[in-house]
Order: sequence, then structure tokens, then C-alpha cells
Amino acid sequence: MTDFWDTIAAIASARGEASVGIVRISGASARKIAEAVFRRPSGRPVKRWSSRRSVLYGLAVHPKDGRELDEVLLLWMPGPRSYTGEDVVEFQVHGGSRVLEGVLEAILVAGCRLAEPGEFTKRAFLNGRMDLSQAEGVMDLIRAKTDLASQAALRQVRGGLRENVVGLRRRLLRLEAHVEVTIDYPEHEVEDEARDLVVKECEALGREVTQIVDSSHLGQILRDGIGTAILGRPNVGKSSLMNRLLRRERAIVTEIPGTTRDVLEEYVSIEGIPFRIIDTAGIRDTEDVVEQIGVERSREVMEDAEVVILIMNAGEPLGPEDEELLRATRAKPRLVLLNKVDLGIHVDVKELESALGGDSWIAVSLKTGEGVDAFLSELVRIAVGEEHPMLESSFATNARQTNYLREALEDLNLARFAALEGATLDIIAVQLQSAYAALGQVIGEEVGEDLLDEIFSQFCLGK
Ligand code: GDP
Repeated sequence: MTDFWDTIAAIASARGEASVGIVRISGASARKIAEAVFRRPSGRPVKRWSSRRSVLYGLAVHPKDGRELDEVLLLWMPGPRSYTGEDVVEFQVHGGSRVLEGVLEAILVAGCRLAEPGEFTKRAFLNGRMDLSQAEGVMDLIRAKTDLASQAALRQVRGGLRENVVGLRRRLLRLEAHVEVTIDYPEHEVEDEARDLVVKECEALGREVTQIVDSSHLGQILRDGIGTAILGRPNVGKSSLMNRLLRRERAIVTEIPGTTRDVLEEYVSIEGIPFRIIDTAGIRDTEDVVEQIGVERSREVMEDAEVVILIMNAGEPLGPEDEELLRATRAKPRLVLLNKVDLGIHVDVKELESALGGDSWIAVSLKTGEGVDAFLSELVRIAVGEEHPMLESSFATNARQTNYLREALEDLNLARFAALEGATLDIIAVQLQSAYAALGQVIGEEVGEDLLDEIFSQFCLGK
């Protein structure tokens, strides 16, 4: 591995034409490099660098031949109060790819190396500018596809999850200290008191960890979207629904080809919640026999789906295919749309309701828009249920963090059971320590170098 403490540089802005592009440098030689590639409008280098953040206007030049590369703004952010904790220089240049590459090249020639993906943020973490949960939040923030997702990520970047976890660890440490002290005083009564305390505290701590884990389920939804399948026999309005969703709700990502099947996935944001719609509309076109609506295929699509929207034609009585689809979707949270109400309702509603066994149905016209608002609210309710208000306080926790939170929860439960069973305090103390360590992993204490490399390599270049 390259020496960690050397100076790094990278283009921090997106590729393509833009009014401004940014090249970022971080490390002990940042200032020296800036001296080599930056000139004041007078043509002279900067002599005195402020000990505080400052902005300078001038030219970027090539360190070898003094060739002028661009008019630039130089942002000087001396460590330790910079993003990375080191001296940081950012050049704001004109946002063309050739200009950016030229300035970066000049900077590299002046004596530093290209940063690895996520290396700036990794340094911020290693220099204690942020913990691991915050660093991971940065990545989620960059990738957020909806407002709610970016809010949850921002809460994490601002240390929301860290605060919670640090608080829990402090309480655990206090509890453990109490247990350890009691080990030295082996009177039974005192020991029983310590066990009672363990039971009570582990219960309370466990509740809080559970809350974070639950909210992290929402965080995951925010990040990945709720897999939603639109099913129904041909001509009931699947494409019409898709088009309506994509037209009225902001489409966030389009046309991600399905991995193994010929389905499309599109993200739409409904009430700020991303739905990953698995579009089966195309499937029909590949079927020769219309009657074979491919219940089998619908089943396959359903495997991926967390929620099913089943569309039926309100203008016709239920057919055998409808009934088959009703049966096939029974196990999933689902919502039935009786489409084409503008043509009247000819479905036997009683029969439908008995087949639905309590699941909701809504009459809509995807042509006139009737009932569509009610449908969208109901869809959100079915997808995130009563948790919805909790989105306000959820974090964008990822699978890694959730795993360690679950591990901590398990340890807390084991400690509590051990205490209830009257186990020795030594055994209880071990469980408490283990819970403490698991929580430490969430915020990146006790995390190994390999894992760090893996986490930060998922970042984009220049961050
Ligand atoms: P799909 O085969 O399930 O994808 O169904 P489509 O979305 O292609 O719709 C089939 C036909 O039904 C099209 O001609 C639509 O214009 C029509 N259609 C869809 N929704 C409505 C509706 O609410 N009312 C009426 N009258 N026609 C509709």
C-alpha cells in the first residue's frame, strides 16, 4: 500500500461540461503544490498563506514551464479544521474536462499522487473528523435518490447515529463497570442487585437498539427503493399505470434492465419514498398466446417484489386469470386496482372482497385520473405502513451497520438471560463487553484496515 500520509489529489466534481469544476488536494504538501501551480494575477506566487481559510483569485500554471492553464479560484483550508483534517487546497476551475485534467496533471507533476476512491473521506475518518457512520452517510448522501433518502443520510453525516451509539456505549460501560466492581465484592445480595440492574438496563438498551434497527429498515428502503410489481392480465392497464407514475411522479432512474429476466425496473418517488417498480408490461409482448399471461413469470417477478399492485378490469367480471393472480399474490402485501371505472363497475365486488380476505382494493381510472391520488396514498401505507412518520427520524444505516446493531442486540439479550438465570457476573461481563464491541463497529472503532479499504473503495473518486 502507498504511504498513507502522502499528499493526494483528484477531480472532485462530476465529469462533463459545467460552469465550474473542482480539483482537490489534501496532505502535508498541499501548500507547496499550490505554490508551484498557482500565480496571483500579478504573475507572482503567493508569499504569505493565512492560518485561516481563504479564497484567492489567480491563474493555474504548469510547474515545469509556467504555461497558463486556467483562471482559477483557490480555496485554502488549512488543517486540522478542514474536511480531511489535513491542509486542503481546492482549485475551482472552468468545468471542462480538458481544463480539469490539465490542472490535475499540473498538480500531480508538482508532487503528489492521484487519490483512491473515497480517500479524502477515509482520511477524514482516520483523522477523527468524522466516525465511520458519518463517512458512510456521505456516500449515501451522494447516492440518495429522493428527498427523504438525502435527509436520512444527512442526519447520519451530521452525527445522528454516532450520537445514539456513543450514548448507548457510555451506558453499557457504566453497567459493566458496576458489574466488575461487584465481582470484587462477592456478597450474594450485592451480586443479585447487580444482576437486577443488568436485566433492567439490558432491556432498556435493547429497546433502543431495536428502534435504531427498525428505523434502519426504513433507511434501507430509502436507499434501495421498495420493490413493487405491477401484475395483471393483458390490457388491464399495466402500461397505463406505469406511464402515469412516470409522468406525474418524478422519475429518478430509468430503464435499469432486469438482471435475469426481460423486465424493466424504474424508480419513482411517491410521497418522497422511492418505489422500484418492476415493470411486467413488456413480458406480454414476448408471449405468443395471450391466455398464457405467464402466471409463472408473474411469480418470478413477485419474488423480487415487496409489494404487489394487481390490476383488474372493472368493466368485466373476474376471469379465471384474475382469480389465479389473486391466489398467486396472496402471500404478499398487495393492492388491487379496479381500473377503467369510467366504463362502470361490472366486477362482483363481494366475490372480489372474499378473494382478497381483507386486502385493499381501489377503483380507479388510469384514463381520467379518478382515484389515482387515493391509490398512491394507499400504496405508501401498504409499503411502509405506520412506520411512515418515523421516516422523519430514521438514519440511512447500511447492512454493515445493521449487522453490528443486531449483534449488539443479541449480546444484550444473552447478558439479560444470563442475569435472569443467575449466571456468574464474569459471564455477564463478557456479554456486556461483546455488546460494547459490536456497537463500536457501527461507528468504526475496532474496525480493521481491510474493511476500511473495502468501505471507502465504494466511494466515488474525489470524495
Ligand atoms: P396493459 O396491457 O396491462 O399494459 O394495458 P395498457 O396500459 O396497455 O392498456 C390497455 C388499453 O386500455 C389501452 O388502450 C388503454 O388506453 C386502455 N385503458 C387503460 N386504462 C384505462 C381506463 O381507465 N379507462 C379506459 N376507458 N381505458 C383504459
